[in-house]
Amino acid sequence: MKPFAKKSLGQNFLVDSNYIEKIVAVLSLSQEDTVIEIGPGRGALTEKLVEKAGKVIAVEIDNYLVPFLEDKFSQNNNFSVVHEDALQIDFRAINNSQLTINNGKLVANLPYYISTAILQRLIEQRKCFSGMVLMLQREVVERITAEPGNSERGFLTVLVEAYMSAQKLFDVPPEAFRPAPKVWSAVVRLEPKAIDIADEKLFRELISAGFAYKRKTILNNFKNAPQKLKERTGDAEKFLETGDIDPRRRAETLSFEEWLELYKMLK
Ligand code: SAM
Repeated sequence: MKPFAKKSLGQNFLVDSNYIEKIVAVLSLSQEDTVIEIGPGRGALTEKLVEKAGKVIAVEIDNYLVPFLEDKFSQNNNFSVVHEDALQIDFRAINNSQLTINNGKLVANLPYYISTAILQRLIEQRKCFSGMVLMLQREVVERITAEPGNSERGFLTVLVEAYMSAQKLFDVPPEAFRPAPKVWSAVVRLEPKAIDIADEKLFRELISAGFAYKRKTILNNFKNAPQKLKERTGDAEKFLETGDIDPRRRAETLSFEEWLELYKMLK
């Protein structure tokens, strides 16, 4: 018997085979690839992954799904399941212990309530992966791909932009899942960028302060930044003037290059 879907774990299982095929096609898998799948659920995507990839490591939190998956894929010796919370797991450690190549492809159909937290974690650990294909709530995908001037643009957009190139691929309607969620989903491809920001924590503090109150100007937000950051920006007005940013602008209008310029000016 198939395990019941648990609402508390965001279990909306993908049942439409067209979308399963589409996601797997985007991964362009070969026997050389190792795939890390977060939240395999009942294994709808996993079934295709074990056929095409050299190795599949699934990370599933649900006590009931783990033995179900072990049983379902007991004949596939390229499959293993790790019973862990993807928000706690250190992908670099899985990397050392189980992956033969450190260039895994990550795929996940994520529960909506953990999407922001997991994105931040995946960005932190991005060096483990050559690329990621994520299914998220459509609004989240729109937010992380929002261009400067779009009111959807926020902290997460700039954070993703700093480290990954993001490309929205396609939408997925609620009817593709059982049970059907209330919202549409979308699939996005993220690939790590070559550039590196030396002090990631400082960069996060800068954008977090800039976006603190979305309706306020960037000047007001920097004036009210945490003391530690203010010590590095100095006078907020002068700081923006040196960076050639009109203080009346809102954070959502700044391009990534402008954020980078401001970051480089921090003392
Ligand atoms: N991939 C499957 C599919 O497409 O049918 C299931 C997707 S369902 C939206 C999300 C899956 O993530 C569920 O299997 C759920 O148990 C699992 N999950 C939820 N929170 C998790 C966490 N923190 N760490 C790992 N897995 C999690």
